[in-house]
Amino acid sequence: MTEARNPCIGIYPGSFDPMTRGHEDICRRALEFVDKLIIAVAHTRTQKKAGLFSIPERVEMIRELFSDEPRVEVDEFDGLLVQYAQKRDATLIVRGLRAVSDFEYEFQMALMNRELWDRAETVFLAPDARYSFLSASLVREIASLGGDVSEFVAPSVLERLNRHYSRA
Ligand code: ADP
Repeated sequence: MTEARNPCIGIYPGSFDPMTRGHEDICRRALEFVDKLIIAVAHTRTQKKAGLFSIPERVEMIRELFSDEPRVEVDEFDGLLVQYAQKRDATLIVRGLRAVSDFEYEFQMALMNRELWDRAETVFLAPDARYSFLSASLVREIASLGGDVSEFVAPSVLERLNRHYSRA
């Protein structure tokens, strides 16, 4: 008799302001090996600047993007990631690595999270090379200056960006 294993619940935290094709790519890759993926939009208490989109708007946009994927849940969290992850029994933290520059911070976070909760394991995924230079802040900046970001975000996100910068 094979022993039933606990479902593997992954958690992908971030600000997702807005979700880019790079983020989507990481989610799709994670879904290859997790049973369920919680995409968790962080309330960034530590950041002084308010984001472009409100947290409920970000959550709604991500839900639209993954409406075809029943294994994805989109939520928001405040405070420490590990506390939220523990509450949700999500032991696998998913992070994307774009370049070496991401590494130091990500590595430090992974070790600290495990220190805070010893069941927290972090996996780093590399995105498709097309998205390895992409960040949400770059997308916001280009869009605000009237540049074309249609390759970097889903059509529904693009529409919201255009609406935001009133060029729809
Ligand atoms: P951003 O840096 O774009 O503002 P977040 O802070 O929301 O994004 O990042 C959440 C996670 O997604 C982080 O692990 C970050 O490294 C990763 N990530 C962001 N953009 C990409 C991308 N283009 N490719 C792979 N991973 C990415």
